[in-house]
Amino acid sequence: MNNTEHVRVLILGSGPAGYTAAIYAARANLNPVLYEGIQPGGQLTTTTEIDNFPGYPNGTTGNQLMDDLKQQALRFGTDVRFGIATATDLSQLPLRITIDGEKQIEADALIIATGATARYLGLESEERLKGQGVSACATCDGFFYRGKDVAVVGGGDTACEEATYLAGLCKQVYLVVRKPYLRASKPMQERVLNTPNIEVLFEHTTQEVLGDDKTGVNGVMLLNTSTNQLVRKPIDGFFLAIGHQPNSDLFKPWVDTDEAGYIKTIAGTSKTNVEGVFACGDVQDPHYRQAITAAGSGCRAAIDVERYLGSRNF
Ligand code: NDP
Repeated sequence: MNNTEHVRVLILGSGPAGYTAAIYAARANLNPVLYEGIQPGGQLTTTTEIDNFPGYPNGTTGNQLMDDLKQQALRFGTDVRFGIATATDLSQLPLRITIDGEKQIEADALIIATGATARYLGLESEERLKGQGVSACATCDGFFYRGKDVAVVGGGDTACEEATYLAGLCKQVYLVVRKPYLRASKPMQERVLNTPNIEVLFEHTTQEVLGDDKTGVNGVMLLNTSTNQLVRKPIDGFFLAIGHQPNSDLFKPWVDTDEAGYIKTIAGTSKTNVEGVFACGDVQDPHYRQAITAAGSGCRAAIDVERYLGSRNF
């Protein structure tokens, strides 16, 4: 059986970048095929309120925004599919992408919009207790810790946002910050520092997440790096909010990335170093990482693809 399909424009990823690229490509009659990837709707589906996406004067939710974008992409004929890219051969045209280990796609142009994934500390205990009290998404899992004590690790906007969200559900929230200050924006910092049931533990690092596989997390061992004292906090939930890793591994044999793994694009464009391959959204953006900047870069990618295909007479 021939399991190979030819498409003009293949989009990998279903966050704001992928869907915006799809809307523009579909409206340009490029018949885009979009594979949703591991997390349909992308990272925004793991957040609650979105107040900074233009066009929503009263705010919206991550899930609603992503559903709206998907419906808009479908309305213009985007072929949206479940599936994950598992292998690539971008050494020649057409570009070859394997979906779910079996289906072969040959594409004239590829838009990589695979986003980024939450980072973990890399502790053995953290890995062992994932899903048993260790989580990288407070808005997904916070509900399970109502009335309980939890810790959040990180000092950026995500950590502050998650700590504030959890403070509304939990009895006590410890925010574990390795530096003597928060990196988050001023308003976010103020919210955290003014929330009575958040205790910020500056200059603390995590030594071990305590608990066993049957009963889950029951504490965390921290090191106060200014006093060199170990501190044990009894908690039920341990939340990571220490940044993200771009989902670029599949493309690294072909596409240039920076030392953190972000795909490099030619300044002012979405073009990568590989002909026919374009990147947009968080997989290529170490700086802004906002829904609106991802959407904007998705628009650019679709326009770049349209011009590329036109210039090649594909
Ligand atoms: P950031 O990279 O901004 O912050 C990561 C935080 O985790 C830092 O405080 C960092 O510490 C800490 N950290 C990293 N590694 C470790 C480690 N191994 N152990 C302990 N702590 C660690 O990531 P965010 O996810 O917070 O934010 C990403 C981007 O998204 C930012 O640009 C942010 O402004 C934006 N954002 C905006 C929001 C909004 O506007 N509503 C909401 C959420 C995010 P250190 O400071 O010491 O490096």
